[in-house]
Amino acid sequence: MDVFSESIKRINGVGEIRLKQFRMLGINNIYDMITNYPRTYENRSVIKEIGELKDGDTCSFVGEVSTSIRQIRANKLTIYKFRVVGKTGSIIVVFHNQHYIKDIFLNGRKFIFYGRVERDNYGLAVKDPAFCEYSEGKLKRWAGIVPVYNLTRGLSQNVARSLIQKALLLTKRYIKDFMPQKILDKCNLEGLEYAIENIHMPKSQADFLRARRRLVFDEFFLLQLALFSIKREDDIENNELKIYEHDESNEFIAGLPFELTNAQKRTIKEILDDMKSNKVMNRLVQGDVGCGKTIVSVVALLNTVKSGYQGIMLAPTEILARQHYETLKNLLDKFDIKIGLLLGSMKKREKNKLLDRIMIGQIDIVVGTHAILQDSVIFDNVGLVITDEQHRFGVKQRSILSKKGERPHVLAMSATPIPRTLALILYGDLDISIIDELPPERKKVTTVVIGEDKKERMNNFIRQKVKEGRQVYIVCPLVEDSENIDAKSVNILADKLKKEDFYDLNVSLIHGKLSSQKKDEIMEDFKCGKIDILISTTVIEVGVNVPNASIMVIENAERFGLSTLHQLRGRVGRGDKEAFCILVTNNKSDLNKKRMDIMKSTNDGFLISQKDLELRGIGDFFGTRQHGLPDFKIANIYNDMEILKKAQIAAQDVINEGEVYEELKKEVNNRFLKKLKEDIVLN
Ligand code: ADP
Ligand code: MG
Repeated sequence: MDVFSESIKRINGVGEIRLKQFRMLGINNIYDMITNYPRTYENRSVIKEIGELKDGDTCSFVGEVSTSIRQIRANKLTIYKFRVVGKTGSIIVVFHNQHYIKDIFLNGRKFIFYGRVERDNYGLAVKDPAFCEYSEGKLKRWAGIVPVYNLTRGLSQNVARSLIQKALLLTKRYIKDFMPQKILDKCNLEGLEYAIENIHMPKSQADFLRARRRLVFDEFFLLQLALFSIKREDDIENNELKIYEHDESNEFIAGLPFELTNAQKRTIKEILDDMKSNKVMNRLVQGDVGCGKTIVSVVALLNTVKSGYQGIMLAPTEILARQHYETLKNLLDKFDIKIGLLLGSMKKREKNKLLDRIMIGQIDIVVGTHAILQDSVIFDNVGLVITDEQHRFGVKQRSILSKKGERPHVLAMSATPIPRTLALILYGDLDISIIDELPPERKKVTTVVIGEDKKERMNNFIRQKVKEGRQVYIVCPLVEDSENIDAKSVNILADKLKKEDFYDLNVSLIHGKLSSQKKDEIMEDFKCGKIDILISTTVIEVGVNVPNASIMVIENAERFGLSTLHQLRGRVGRGDKEAFCILVTNNKSDLNKKRMDIMKSTNDGFLISQKDLELRGIGDFFGTRQHGLPDFKIANIYNDMEILKKAQIAAQDVINEGEVYEELKKEVNNRFLKKLKEDIVLN
């Protein structure tokens, strides 16, 4: 056993209590401890005279206690206050609830402080500063950059610091750099020992940045290598399920009421080439809302079935699954293909009957939600699995499916367009096809932004359009009204619209909490025109295709991310009629205005997601969880984009070069590969 995997009890000063406290922070062994990077830093090296201090300064200063301590009790809080003087000026020091300070800050003693200076009613004050008793020598040591760690109850910053420092001292000479020298040189990286020491105790800002750069690089580089190596495992010649292009395929395409776009044709070719090749397909199709991904997947399914295999189509919601089921039935009817719909909410008897038919191969294509992945679903011979609107289909799901038979081909469809650098790290284990073209007659959706005060006019507009035969979606953010949240509940809104504004029209409400049978009924009624106005939560966000619906109203538009707004807007403009998206918002903030302006100015999903990313940062944009990516300890996909690019190139070089670096391989495995294979979770 090496020192890194030893319990932190090995460190002098860690007993049962500290052990528990660190465990609360997810720190168990010494490795965890030294890779527990500071949350932030205090730069104590700026030292000012008290007389020079200004409101808003964060710095160090030296002062002598000049009053006795005043103690103020307020509720459960005890506040301690005293004044300290310097060569020039004085300042009030405030502590909260730290009872021991009475014994420390005795009149006449001199201390060094560090904290944020604020002006309150009585002049300048500093609250809960870091401090130590003054001496020349101490001041020298004090004046540096000090790490600030995450804490837990009972663990103080000083204790955390000193124990982590001990761990660093203990491990210093054992740290072995796994990074090949070649890459260190080429990418101008610091060694690992330097990086770990300086991330905890940087001597300067420059040292910190160099250390951080190395550690960020490591995370990207290792993850990218892990993803590439999964892809390489997938790339071995293991395709036992050869799927060829059949005549019916051309017949099907020729029979469509429209010509496929070039991007669709290209993507279909890429898919068919994959499926007949020696490798199992792992492909992601990316394309903006409405670009026609469904047809592409139908062609793939048709050829799969005609080659003698079953196909699976997974959708994230029951509404979408039902819709795909209908579409497939209509399109594939004349090709003698049997299609089944499998939903979690089905009645047991009905489901069992279907399961039997799936098992003996009487069903050619199974459409459904993730219920399909359950153990009880046994296939005869799956050749292709398609996941729609699934931004990432994890390695884990692939392995579940491959246990259901041979390793099937996998095709993921996503409308979330992302820049290439990100695609490489989010989908590094997949090949990517991009449908970058919309069908030609597609109308641009006219987007307007209005305040609540313009509702009356909007309602008149809606009424007018309904008279012309159009249908309307009204989307709201919440299902149940909550007093605390200033958002309209669909329930209340639906009531009002039904009884007042549109009392003479057919208004219906759909949301996630309805039974799936009810949801289906409503969607069916909407599709065949029985409903004029459909009020909804975001359950209709993905995939829903009702071409006659041409107005999308989004209430409290400020509550949705740009990509969601774009997805919702994509529900209209699917027919040949002019389409409108009305964003209702009373939020006057600059940020919201910027976001709404973006929505007004473009219908380009790539551009919108780029802007969304810039405005929100990566964390909100993608839950990394959603993509099955492990959390980074220090790297930030968005802010560290430059380092990410370098790391990707370096990783690609290592793969191309083909040389085996044992230490590096081990690190990739420990840090990411094992975990990726184990717990990529369903989104
Ligand atoms: P998405 O890519 O968002 O899933 P869909 O597959 O739902 O888009 O397609 C949207 C609509 O466009 C459907 O009604 C589909 O029949 C139609 N469509 C698909 N391809 C074309 C095309 N090449 N020309 C015209 N209409 C098309
Ligand atoms: Mg779709």
